Amino acid sequence: ADRIVIKVGTSTLIRQNSQINLPVIKKLAYVLSTLKKNGKDVVLVSSGAIGVGMGVLNIDQRPIKISKQQAVAAVGQAELMQIYNEAFHEYGMSVAQILITRDIIDYPESHTNVMNSFQELLSMDNTIPIVNENDTVTVSELDHHTKFGDNDQLSAIVTNLVDADLLIMLSDIDGFYSANPLKVSDATLIDTIKQIDPEIIAAAGGHGTKYGTGGMTTKLKAAELILKHNQQMILTNGKDPEIIFNLLAGDPIGTLFS
Ligand code: ADP
Repeated sequence: ADRIVIKVGTSTLIRQNSQINLPVIKKLAYVLSTLKKNGKDVVLVSSGAIGVGMGVLNIDQRPIKISKQQAVAAVGQAELMQIYNEAFHEYGMSVAQILITRDIIDYPESHTNVMNSFQELLSMDNTIPIVNENDTVTVSELDHHTKFGDNDQLSAIVTNLVDADLLIMLSDIDGFYSANPLKVSDATLIDTIKQIDPEIIAAAGGHGTKYGTGGMTTKLKAAELILKHNQQMILTNGKDPEIIFNLLAGDPIGTLFS
């Protein structure tokens, strides 16, 4: 794969105690910078703004009120980008912040603009675009006209948009299981999924942690979009981002949607 989108979930970035998982971010910066230096095109889609914001503001529970969530996300986004900026600078990389809304799907002009920006950024030698949904202007998680719902689907849309070969989705679980392993102890990892049929959809349970958002349902929606465009997605555990090297070397890791 020469053009890769990596999506990292909140459950990978934030520890249960609201602290940001700095070692993972530093490792991620190392891995992505190495790929970039080796000539790969790399885009990072990062969740975690609300989780980071909760830590900064010392809030225990994810706010219920949408406007409160947006405010917390705005605080967290700035902090998160600062952390990425520092981490990537260690490897001589700059980061570029791209905040996206549904406008890029609904309005051809917005679509063209974001495509052009991506092409320009990807042609730069020492820059890593970091994408998130623009929480401030997206109204409600349930309002499909304004919000993608989560970064899982956003990462698939970005993968389509930049015509990447592969979407690597890093989560807090090793892959897609026959059932939610938190609830079903003998659930087994599925190594390859060719299509998202009702049986697969039925195997997807909710999210695992208080910070995670979409769970497997939104990851399957993302996979559907990827398969529709004849692209590939790998879902795997992000606890050690160096797994990306193994994965790109062809080791069978996680669940391949292909
Ligand atoms: P992220 O923050 O990485 O997007 P989520 O918490 O939203 O992560 O989703 C990952 C969680 O989905 C896992 O920790 C697991 O508890 C849950 N899950 C539900 N059903 C499944 C399944 N069939 N296979 C794997 N994980 C599942």
